[in-house]
Amino acid sequence: MSEKHEKLIDKKGIRLDGRKADELRPLKLEVGVLPNADGSAYVEHGKNKILVGVFGPREVHPKHLMRPDRMVLKCRYHMAPFSVPERKSPAPSRREVELSKVIRESLEPALFPELYPRTGIDVYVEVLQADGGTRCASITAAALALADSGIPMRDLVVACAAGKVEDTVVLDLYDAEDKLGAADVPVAYMPNLNAVTLLQMDGALSPEEFEKAVSMAMEGCKQIYAMQKEALKNKYMKIKEETKEETEE
Ligand code: ADP
Repeated sequence: MSEKHEKLIDKKGIRLDGRKADELRPLKLEVGVLPNADGSAYVEHGKNKILVGVFGPREVHPKHLMRPDRMVLKCRYHMAPFSVPERKSPAPSRREVELSKVIRESLEPALFPELYPRTGIDVYVEVLQADGGTRCASITAAALALADSGIPMRDLVVACAAGKVEDTVVLDLYDAEDKLGAADVPVAYMPNLNAVTLLQMDGALSPEEFEKAVSMAMEGCKQIYAMQKEALKNKYMKIKEETKEETEE
């Protein structure tokens, strides 16, 4: 860790962006934002801005990926060239290929692939702006987009990271904390089923710190889960309002 940077957390436990150790960044979640997709979601998680479009269940391309007994889930995580301060090459990087796999594996346990044999679902994640924790925000957004598409799900998947900056375990690291901090533990979780679908760790933590980080991340997930359900409800409230207005006219 660099010794030159400003302290990431002060003596009172307040972080550089003004948050307490166990505080999430502000979130905004919306579904049904892309009329051309079967399901879609837009998530702002702090300064992260992420758009997800879901297509399917539909014919699988390339055809050799098709499975006779199950649906195939495909995910593409992509960062726009303008999503970070230095232009990012639009070509898929090794990191994007890895995150696409990680996001797919986090979402799969929530689906019933055996219900849709010989088909595929495509999940396209576009990171418009990145500020740390994009894999988690992408999972939160992708689960919402899948739910918006109407496909049966065991539960929503929600993700959030916790980690360590200076000597403190903190929730929901942003870019500077991610880069200068000591550790980052992204967790994806299905709160209703109490099942973890992703657990990674970057950096080093003691067993006690690790346990604290995981339970903090799961608490963060529960808070975001409530917002996910609210976002889905809001879409239907809007439709209800619109149909009411139409029938009144
Ligand atoms: P996550 O976004 O899930 O935390 P990483 O830990 O790999 O994934 O990345 C942390 C952050 O680093 C990203 O959210 C983004 O803000 C920044 N970042 C990633 N790739 C690039 C890049 N090519 N150029 C500049 N910043 C990047």
